[in-house]
Formats: sequence, structure tokens, C-alpha cells
Amino acid sequence: LPHRGGNLRIQRYQETLEVQQRHRLNLQQAIRGAPQRGEMSLAFQPKISLATQQIIGAEALLRWHHPELGHISPADFIPLAEASGDILAIGEWVLEETMQQIVTWRKQGLLNEHFHIAVNVAARQLTRKDFAQKLLDRLAAYDIPERFLALEVTESGLMSDMQNARVQLAQLARMNVAVAIDDFGTGHSSLAYVKTLPFSTLKIDRAFVMDLEKNAVDRQLAVMITQLAHAVGCDVVAEGIETASQAAYLRSIGCEAAQGFYYARPLPADDFVAWCNNWAPQPMPLTTRSLFNG
Ligand code: C2E
Ligand code: MG
Ligand code: MG
Ligand code: MG
Repeated sequence: LPHRGGNLRIQRYQETLEVQQRHRLNLQQAIRGAPQRGEMSLAFQPKISLATQQIIGAEALLRWHHPELGHISPADFIPLAEASGDILAIGEWVLEETMQQIVTWRKQGLLNEHFHIAVNVAARQLTRKDFAQKLLDRLAAYDIPERFLALEVTESGLMSDMQNARVQLAQLARMNVAVAIDDFGTGHSSLAYVKTLPFSTLKIDRAFVMDLEKNAVDRQLAVMITQLAHAVGCDVVAEGIETASQAAYLRSIGCEAAQGFYYARPLPADDFVAWCNNWAPQPMPLTTRSLFNG
């Protein structure tokens, strides 16, 4: 009977929703204190200069291994931590961990002035009144020059507290801490604030990179985003590079740097160092025209 069938489907749907909500709640509770219980770590993904093929830095990405649930993706738990406010404590841990890593790598001679570690910060962190000052104090306490650290922040969220975002970003810019807009083009991008906020880098989201080979519109969008970034004095990092021809195309349009599985996955600290030591820049083909169709 169609009528009964419909009810059953609604009932099942509601049960699924309840299961999902319970799962969210469990995760949200499990996040609290996870760094202190030793469940979290950082992985590092290299950023490569498209002009020189040199490693220009790395992005620190948070990893969570729950004792029973196993690996949980930041795409799943970061939004929960943002909603609950736990992102503030987790973000502190990420910054602290990153600074310790920078100190270690400087001692080992891995870091020079052309190499930075980028940390993702939630808008909720960045818009705190004392965010920039505390960050600068912490860099000073570790004796780390500001240029070794960079920040990445997504556009969504910044607008809810534009006034504070502006104050914090201005202070960071004065002190030469580079700040990138992450996932550019996927949020509610406003040309006005790209122009008026002092960002140094624009990160092209993977969504515009994945179909470059077969989609002429995406190629055009990549060109436009790169031109827009350059017009406001930013450099461009493309994320999610998985093929040689994506890298070659992005280089041909003037995009400065690239990051993606084509070069390396995000790696635990020791593996990252080994990867850097093995990295041998390959010359890139000059023409990309023949690689594309569509
Ligand atoms: P994001 O900052 O845009 O980081 C890029 C994401 O793309 C990472 O996912 C990375 O592993 C993935 N990725 C890199 N190259 C490729 C590629 O070639 N192909 C594909 N398919 N994926 C690639 P991940 O590590 O799962 O992180 C997801 C998001 O979680 C990050 O996106 C960032 O927004 C957030 N996140 C991660 N760590 C932190 C953190 O410490 N703090 C905050 N606030 N957010 C974080
Ligand atoms: Mg990022
Ligand atoms: Mg990104
Ligand atoms: Mg992205």
C-alpha cells in the first residue's frame, strides 16, 4: 500500500536523522579534550612554487584519531567544534604544536626564510579581540620570526564580525604574518572585502582545479581568480593539484604556487621531512595546449 509505504519511509528517515544527530552529539562531546588525551596530531602538506619547483612551505592539517571510531576527517569534526566553541581550545593547541614544530625544524636547518608553515584558523579564533597580539607574543616567546608562520582563514564567518576581522588582519599585516583566504570562490566572496582587507594570498579552491583538463569554464575561472588576486596585490596558491597538466596550466596563467596529492599527501612530521629531503624538482613542459580537450 502506497500510503503505508510512505509512512514507513518517513519513519525510517526520522530514525536515520536521529542516528545522525546522536552521532554528531557523541562526536561533539568526544572532541573536548581530545588534544590533551593525545588523540590529535598535525599532518604537513608541501606547497610548491610553480615557477621554480622549490618547496616554499607547508600547510599544517589537523588529524584526529579517536580510540574507538578511528580516523575522523576534519571536514566532519571542525564544523562541530566551531559550533560548540571547542574550536578555540583546539585552535590554541594547533598553534602551540605548530610553533614547537617550527622550533624543531629550525634547529634541524630545514626551515629558511623562504619556507613557512601555514595554519588554518577558524573565523571565530581570528576575530577574537586579542588574537593577533597573543599570536605575536607567542612567536616572540618561541623566538620565531613572523615570516615563518602563515595563516589560512575561510571567507565564510569573517563577515559576521567584520570590524574585528579588520583590526586583527591589519595588526598581522603590520607584523608580516601572511594571511591567506582559503577555499576562495566557494563562500560568499565579496570583491569589496578582498580589496579592503589586507590578505597576502588567495587560495583557489580544489573545486576549480579538479576539472581544469576537461572544462574550459573552469580554466577561465582560474584565470579570472588569478588576475583578481594579482590586481589586489595577492599571490595565488592552487589547492588540490592531482595531475601534471593541472600544474602546468596553473603555471601558464601565472599562479604562483600549488599544493596537492600530485606532489604529496599531508604527511606526519617525520615523513614530511623525508619527503622534502627526497624532493627533486622536475622541469615542466612549457606548453600545455595539447593536454586539454573541452
Ligand atoms: P583546507 O584548509 O582547504 O585544506 C585542504 C584539504 O584538501 C585538506 O583536507 C587536504 O588533505 C585536502 N587535499 C589536499 N590536496 C588534495 C588533493 O590533491 N586532492 C584531494 N582530493 N584533496 C586534497 P583535510 O586535511 O581533510 O582538511 C579539510 C579541511 O578541514 C581543511 O580544508 C580546513 O578547512 C579544515 N582544517 C584542517 N585542519 C584544521 C585546523 O587545524 N584548524 C581549522 N580551523 N580547520 C582545519
Ligand atoms: Mg587551508
Ligand atoms: Mg583550502
Ligand atoms: Mg578547499
